[in-house]
Amino acid sequence: MLQNSKVSNPLISARGLTRSYGTTHALDGIDVALGLGTAVAIMGPSGSGKSTLLHALAGIELPDSGTVTLNLPGQGPIQVEQLKDAARTKLRREAFGFVFQSGLLIPELTAEENVAMALMINGVPRGAAIARAVDALQQLGLAGMEQRRIGQLSGGQSQRVAIARAQVTGASVVFADEPTGALDSVTGAEVLDTLLRCTVGAGKTLVMVTHDRQVAARCDRVLTLHDGKITADDALVEGHRS
Ligand code: ADP
Ligand code: MG
Repeated sequence: MLQNSKVSNPLISARGLTRSYGTTHALDGIDVALGLGTAVAIMGPSGSGKSTLLHALAGIELPDSGTVTLNLPGQGPIQVEQLKDAARTKLRREAFGFVFQSGLLIPELTAEENVAMALMINGVPRGAAIARAVDALQQLGLAGMEQRRIGQLSGGQSQRVAIARAQVTGASVVFADEPTGALDSVTGAEVLDTLLRCTVGAGKTLVMVTHDRQVAARCDRVLTLHDGKITADDALVEGHRS
């Protein structure tokens, strides 16, 4: 991929990633480098390996072969696939945020408790965690909704809670899998604006799986997958984020 060689200081580099499920080659030799502070969209037909790639880059699933190297600012390189389970879990909790199409929020808990949970599992005491969660929710336009349970929020509001949770820990990379996939187009556009503002707008990296060309068009770069291979790697023009 020509584009890969242009990322001079990659935050995440994957080399030779493969992952099979039975006879299905979900990842079939992926080489890619992702730059710090950029928004990268992953597109491709259903079953092409988008979610598997996201999970491999985020250390959620281990590849069968290949390497994932993480270069967090101010730290030495981390070989993600070589970490023990506990260290990978710690890395995910501290360095990464996640926003999925739906779910992952706990319906019985309030918005503020869902966000605070991300801090509490990293050892922040409950009171301080709730205070930071309330602040994060208010910054995302959810003032007054802090104590609603997730079931009492709209789809767009729930996704804002998920975005608040993904960024409250100060994670430098946010992974999103179809974050607007369950929303109507107007709400989806609002949630995408919020997601971009909280990630690339704040110098973080966004890695986002999407089916939607208009969503991908807001990113800096679009990777296209087919049958577990990257078949296109397109840099998009500057200024499209506004
Ligand atoms: P996408 O996100 O592009 O729709 P996935 O990465 O989810 O694709 O899946 C890629 C391929 O791997 C598909 O054929 C899918 O059925 C298969 N696959 C993914 N996860 C599993 C799993 N846990 N068990 C079996 N097959 C899987
Ligand atoms: Mg998927």
